[in-house]
Amino acid sequence: MPHNIATIRGYHAHVYFDAATRATALAVRHALTGCFELRVGGLRDAPGGPHPKPSYQLGFTPGQFDHVVPWLMLNRQGLDVLVHPLTGDDAGDHAFRALWLGTPQPLDIDFLRGPPVTAAAPSPSQPALLTQETCND
Ligand code: ZN
Repeated sequence: MPHNIATIRGYHAHVYFDAATRATALAVRHALTGCFELRVGGLRDAPGGPHPKPSYQLGFTPGQFDHVVPWLMLNRQGLDVLVHPLTGDDAGDHAFRALWLGTPQPLDIDFLRGPPVTAAAPSPSQPALLTQETCND
């Protein structure tokens, strides 16, 4: 029985970095948030949660997926990026529904196991897909 894609309420992109790539990661975040209205998480300078390396999180809507992910494909500057859906099953979303740009990293999936968490529904007013024309150049 196929899963209905309507169960996907949004997406996260987790951008990984280390001491050598921290400045690059910040530059990518600055450029990306200049192009799209995203929910931008704070910079984590240490491994945290299921993530084995320092990272930051970007949240976006299903309608932004085909703009944000291609942008990351072209502009991630060699950084490894985890993209996963938000279906309410955190462990499954990270373990077997995710896609990777770059090199997959070993995640601590056990950290995410537990009763499903109901994520907040996306706001009815979706943000604009692009905030600048130049983002398509
Ligand atoms: Zn996430």
